[in-house]
Amino acid sequence: MFDTNTIEKFRDIPTPFYYYDVKLLKNTLDNLKEESVRHGFRLHYAVKANHNERILRIISSYGFGADCVSWNEIDAAIKAGFNPAEIVFAGVGKSDLEIINAIKAGIFCFNCESIPEMEVINEFAVKEKKTVRVALRINPLIDAHTHKYITTGIAESKFGINTWDLEAVLNRLNSLDNLKLIGIHFHVGSQITRLSVFKTLCTHINELQEWFSSKNAELKVINVGGGLGIDYDDPEKSPVFGEYFSLLREFIDLKPGQEIHAEPGRSIVGQCGTLISKVLYIKKGSNTNFAVIDAGMTDLIRPALYQAHHKIENLTSNGEPVRYDVVGPVCESSDTFAKFIVLPETKRGDIIAIRSAGAYGEAMASRYNLRNLAPAVFSDEL
Ligand SMILES: *Cc1c(COP(=O)(O)O)cnc(C)c1O
Repeated sequence: MFDTNTIEKFRDIPTPFYYYDVKLLKNTLDNLKEESVRHGFRLHYAVKANHNERILRIISSYGFGADCVSWNEIDAAIKAGFNPAEIVFAGVGKSDLEIINAIKAGIFCFNCESIPEMEVINEFAVKEKKTVRVALRINPLIDAHTHKYITTGIAESKFGINTWDLEAVLNRLNSLDNLKLIGIHFHVGSQITRLSVFKTLCTHINELQEWFSSKNAELKVINVGGGLGIDYDDPEKSPVFGEYFSLLREFIDLKPGQEIHAEPGRSIVGQCGTLISKVLYIKKGSNTNFAVIDAGMTDLIRPALYQAHHKIENLTSNGEPVRYDVVGPVCESSDTFAKFIVLPETKRGDIIAIRSAGAYGEAMASRYNLRNLAPAVFSDEL
């Protein structure tokens, strides 16, 4: 993936930094656009995966909508060219100010998670003299077979409305004059690699459709959320958008006039990003060698937060294979990118690439230990 020319240029850039391959991102978006049109999906990019301004602008240029979980994300999305009328607002804890701002901006829809939330949105909709479109986020009770911190559709999850509460929610919604129910929304988890999980979701959606019909509640929008995984072992592999969309279309019984929406995040931006770092020291441990690099969990928290695995490459050595624990400088034992992996013999100054870091990398950066935020470098600016 990285030619010698690019690697030479990396040598002159202070590390760590996020490297974004614009061509790869555009290829992914071309593929996504083609498959979404073919299968009739309306898409809202999940901004939380990566809110870098340039990335947002590239994605908005494809005409997709945005899925936001804060007013700041909505604001950033609009500034980057997303049409407010294609923005959905999700999240279990929307603040008053966020709700007011989003109503004023005229977003497409609020994905609602509870009766108290609907009541507050209605209160502000009345004040603004607007009718606000809402979709109900339903917890479909599906095990996404992903890490427990990124599974969201199980009984103990804070997300979504449980099906046994739906009757009460629908009754309350019908009594709130400034809210209009437009559909149902789901999001069962992230980094889902077993497509059968989405097939199970389809069965739940069909059952729920019947239930809403029986209550004479019309649903225009079926929103399946995000969650399509990427292959962290093979950073060159593109996500299986075609298979994913066709499976959903095959197993969801859409009614005439219904629209199907999805909110991919990781699958759009994951593979185009790489965290580039330099080796500071090789330190001998009791039973391993530590390759201490200048990137840490503040730049990419996924391994520390949910034991995520990223492919790691030494771009500047072709020495004999040696085992290393690749660790960052942050004062936490969890600041470890990989344990006991094989790299070509590694020395101070070598350039280390942590692959597939485009999603939930830069977006989750922090200044813990008062570290600097790593900058973004784009392939077409090198
Ligand atoms: C996080 C999230 C997404 C995107 O998930 P990915 O796994 O990045 O595709 C979509 N919708 C909602 C509601 C989310 O919370």
